[in-house]
Amino acid sequence: MAEQNIVIILARCSRSGKNYGIRLVQTSPGKWLGTWAFPIKKAAGKEKGYDSETMPGTFALSDTFPGCPYCKNPHIFECEECGMVGCWNGKMSVAACPWCGSLGRPW
Ligand SMILES: [Zn+2]
Ligand SMILES: [Zn+2]
Repeated sequence: MAEQNIVIILARCSRSGKNYGIRLVQTSPGKWLGTWAFPIKKAAGKEKGYDSETMPGTFALSDTFPGCPYCKNPHIFECEECGMVGCWNGKMSVAACPWCGSLGRPW
């Protein structure tokens, strides 16, 4: 019986520029479900512990996903340029990456 894989990825609010963490649970091989988001205090210096680059597969958000902890954007997107994650309002077809400024495709 396989253990449940859980990772915390680092994301950034597109509006406020503040960082937050997203909790992903692996539901089946290569499939991840975002279940929770929480603010990360920069001063805490814990960002190194978050894994933002090693997530092979596809992603979805659970029905209970709370959205961005800062601006309440309900969705997230992954930047195609830098591979980082930011919040997204779910309306525009593209979103500006809060990390590198390029346009990303929402999940
Ligand atoms: Zn946000
Ligand atoms: Zn980017």
